[in-house]
Amino acid sequence: MDFDAMFTAQLDTLRDEGNYRIFAELERECGTFPRARSHDDDAPERVTVWCSNDYLAMGHNEVVRQAMKDAVDACGTGAGGTRNISGTARHHVALEAELADLHGKEAALLFTSGYVSNWAALSTLGSRLPDAVILSDALNHASMIEGMRHARCQKVIWKHNDPEDLDRKLAALPANAPKIVAFESVYSMDGDISPMEEIIEVAEKHGAMTYLDEVHAVGLYGPRGGGVSEERGLAHRIDLIEGTLGKAYGCMGGYITGSHALCDFIRSFASGFIFTTALPPAVAAAAQASIAHLKQSDSERQQQRRQVAKLRAKLDARGIPHLDNPSHIIPVMIKDPVKCRQIADILMRDYGIYVQPINYPTVPKGTERLRFTPGPLHSDADIDHLVDALSVLWKQCAIAHAVA
Ligand SMILES: *Cc1c(COP(=O)(O)O)cnc(C)c1O
Repeated sequence: MDFDAMFTAQLDTLRDEGNYRIFAELERECGTFPRARSHDDDAPERVTVWCSNDYLAMGHNEVVRQAMKDAVDACGTGAGGTRNISGTARHHVALEAELADLHGKEAALLFTSGYVSNWAALSTLGSRLPDAVILSDALNHASMIEGMRHARCQKVIWKHNDPEDLDRKLAALPANAPKIVAFESVYSMDGDISPMEEIIEVAEKHGAMTYLDEVHAVGLYGPRGGGVSEERGLAHRIDLIEGTLGKAYGCMGGYITGSHALCDFIRSFASGFIFTTALPPAVAAAAQASIAHLKQSDSERQQQRRQVAKLRAKLDARGIPHLDNPSHIIPVMIKDPVKCRQIADILMRDYGIYVQPINYPTVPKGTERLRFTPGPLHSDADIDHLVDALSVLWKQCAIAHAVA
């Protein structure tokens, strides 16, 4: 069997569709973010990163870096084991307490990534609760979809952000089946935010558990960075809040928060928690420093919001169409995978602007886009440079302007 030929055939199809992924090789440099050194031949040596999920540049924050360095010097690099077998450090325990407090919950549980936390928590809930049904928003993240698939319980997909459809679908299920309503706060590709209160009300009416992914909101929304559920005063009505330490907190790892019983249940039964080495204590220490900082400092969030509003206004002024949403994510729609890649290539090569084209399967075919995430460290000049470049390309590539 020629396995390589089989691999290559599928890769060729991907290339023909314009969906083959090419990574930009970058070296982030502390003190110059959002600038980064590029190691690609056809890019300038220094580029400006416009698509980072290190939304508030906390990965370069002095306090966070120091916390990581101190912990490495104090207790070394790796955790040395799974949480059960010698791998639990005081840093993990302290971080879980910090997270429980962030969301006003009794307990928290750490995972090696947000992906793993969704996968492990949903698969354990769905497989361990007899006759469980998971009701999933149609646009939920791949990590939740994989978790539900692995749960092998009944799944019901409800229309994106549509509490009425959720209500109908819940009503059609047996009254005594345990039901779990899984959804997100900020959806990362369209940047829209769910109607959280309405969803909670519907779930409460049917006695369903609520499972909320706040990955793109933690650190960014709410007076202490507790996410949209904190901003809207709804955290206490959500049963499980899931988040990441890898995006706005600038580190790595994922977590769930909820009641003692819920977290103990996942801790005790989730394969993706039990059979893997714990996060390095230094990562836990840095994440805790980052969360603690953003609990008491609002200036990063405010500056980010100002820059997001400026970019939106300037795109509008030039008639460059972007999805209207209430979040920090600005998707500029290209709607063609080849054009999307071409524009991103030109932005990088001629303007030193790095934005990754977002193509299928991350988004549906025909909705290809450039997804900009302005942060507190993008200057007004950075924004002007970006909008000028896009204006030129819009003419060159004959992309439709927004109808005024
Ligand atoms: C990125 C992402 C995750 C996974 O988080 P990681 O920490 O990067 O693994 C989960 N949910 C959503 C909605 C995401 O965008």
